[in-house]
Amino acid sequence: MPSPRTRALTTPLAALPAERSPVPPVFHATTWEVENAAHLADLLSGARKGYSYSRVDSPTSDAFAAAVMGLEGGAFAQPFGSGMAAISSTMLALLSAGDEVVAPHSLYGNTASLLTGMLARLGIVVVWADLADPASVQSALSPRTRLVWAETMANPSMRMADLPGVTAVCRGAGVPFAVDSTFTSPAMLRPLEHGVDLVVHSATKYLGGHSDATGGVVVGGADAGELMARIRAARIDLGGVLAPDEAYLLHRGLATLDLRVGRACATASALAAALAADDRVEQVDHPCLPGHQAHALAHRLCDEGRYGAVLTVTPRGGRAAGLAMLDALRLIPQATSLGGVHTLASHPASTSHRQLDDEGLARAGICPGGVRIPVGLEDAPDLLADLQQALAVAVRAS
Ligand code: PLP
Repeated sequence: MPSPRTRALTTPLAALPAERSPVPPVFHATTWEVENAAHLADLLSGARKGYSYSRVDSPTSDAFAAAVMGLEGGAFAQPFGSGMAAISSTMLALLSAGDEVVAPHSLYGNTASLLTGMLARLGIVVVWADLADPASVQSALSPRTRLVWAETMANPSMRMADLPGVTAVCRGAGVPFAVDSTFTSPAMLRPLEHGVDLVVHSATKYLGGHSDATGGVVVGGADAGELMARIRAARIDLGGVLAPDEAYLLHRGLATLDLRVGRACATASALAAALAADDRVEQVDHPCLPGHQAHALAHRLCDEGRYGAVLTVTPRGGRAAGLAMLDALRLIPQATSLGGVHTLASHPASTSHRQLDDEGLARAGICPGGVRIPVGLEDAPDLLADLQQALAVAVRAS
């Protein structure tokens, strides 16, 4: 018999239970035993399905991606270690030097800096267009266009892309259309139903929903097999993999996604309506308001009554008033991120969109004094009372 030390390493593990559990198991393994060298070669080349190495495939992360795929109604899914890992891997998978990507000005700050920084350095050209206007996308296309990119609901302007209209333009040109659906989530909008080819999420936000796990996911429709194979290869080469414990937490969040998003959207709409009627407020950005760019699109594309759970409030008095309002909040903490159970507040012009100058902020639909409020699950009257007392301080100070 081998020594106790050797036995500690070689005793076979107990078999997994045969019964199904509603909760996914967490596999921390980075490597998996194979039958022989040919088996491992086939697993690594993809000729055979199965597990070999955690950067290639990992069961807990795959289970999470498959669950999101189910919610989105997709046919392929890849898990990533963050939303930016999903976005950068998708862009690097689909774009080469000399290619063009069409995108809107209203983009998450790091997506914008990826396009104008690293990808520009690699010879990839971004052509800006209004993704709410299919004609604008049509005129931005060229024989070198290899990707059209949009955020379903942009951060933080909440402007929406015309998914069916842009899909028709992309189909006509044979160019893939990918959307970042982080702000909408499948509890509000399922872009594949509107013909989009690829849906990308920062799972760190609504999918996980508790501000305790970082991840991303890309889901492809039935015709996206070839695109998704390239995205999978990019994930393996670039290494932006989703860790098993994070995958478990994100997966757990999916069970309550619909309840959380439904409630947060209702609260956000109530706050937006109340604040839009407040004289101390210069502007409220939220798609439930009839004057907002996305009002009609959200009504058409999103599930009934769900206009998004993020609003931006700009008090009278410009940047100084916005910063004073933030500092005066008592119940709502100042923190970045969104999509969790807690309502948060931040100043996009100096945080998530700090890369943009004043002209860039204007193009992205961001007021210098805007305070972004991703709404959580607290009661609406308590949130409103906090925002109102902070507004009073901000207006007195300016
Ligand atoms: N996309 C959007 C719309 C976001 O708001 C964010 C982060 O805030 C990201 C992508 C990036 O996600 P992550 O922080 O998980 O990399």
